[in-house]
Amino acid sequence: MTSLQAACLQAALQVGYHLLDRGSSALLAVEHTIRVLERSGLFNAGKGARLQLDGIQRMDASIMEGDSLRAGAVASVEGIIHPITAARLVMEETDHVLLVGSLATKFARCFKMERHRLQTPLRHLSYGSMLKRKKSSLDRHGTVGAVALDRTGTVAAGASTGGIDRMLPGRVGDTPIIGCGVYADNETGAVSMTGWGESIIRLAVAKGICDRLTKGNTPATAARLVLQKLVARIDGSAGCLVLTHQGRFTIRHSTPHMMAGYWSGRGAPVVKDVFR
Ligand code: ASP
Repeated sequence: MTSLQAACLQAALQVGYHLLDRGSSALLAVEHTIRVLERSGLFNAGKGARLQLDGIQRMDASIMEGDSLRAGAVASVEGIIHPITAARLVMEETDHVLLVGSLATKFARCFKMERHRLQTPLRHLSYGSMLKRKKSSLDRHGTVGAVALDRTGTVAAGASTGGIDRMLPGRVGDTPIIGCGVYADNETGAVSMTGWGESIIRLAVAKGICDRLTKGNTPATAARLVLQKLVARIDGSAGCLVLTHQGRFTIRHSTPHMMAGYWSGRGAPVVKDVFR
């Protein structure tokens, strides 16, 4: 983690905490925490989103709140800085959960969302050569996410990503899929995932962790057991933020590193890239 990334994570935690401290909803805190990270260009989301193999940034995001179990998501959106806000708008302004592709981008533009277009030379790769490049994945991640609990006892979770290295155009990972990349339920807790999306989808990891909380597992145990299964059964890799409706939380990862942090409002926000 660079010092710029650490400072940005701390700033994002402060934005989220101050919103909660002033009585704002967990949903708003999650959205605005993620917006700081998307705008920074320092992570694989928003301005810093990774390119797909045809040289285009296509981004995914989702958000969910645990009181009424409302959720919104966008997949494969282009040219906007804040996919997390587009996801919140899907949740609040429509009766749908997920919008995709150019029509999700069109939806976001109806709300005059700030635009961003990364200038990259178009890569004229044939589909065959894209498939070959895909096979040598570098496996770097960097998705951004947040979970929060507000004064009313409502939890929320969100995530925003540019995807993984060497994606075929049109690839969508776990991040916009409710129950996989995020889940939030006031009866259990809120979960936000990062990692290899294909493996996270196959085990519906975020909902899997919430189900274990329902059974009485602590956040640390629930996260550990589901991540162990992810590695053992399908050689997956992931990291998670887990927060219960009583305010217990854990950050765990099966990957060697995961940049993340938390703040109780006292001292400086804690930011690290290894949690055990
Ligand atoms: N989970 C994201 C995806 O597969 C990538 C990441 O977390 O960095 O699209």
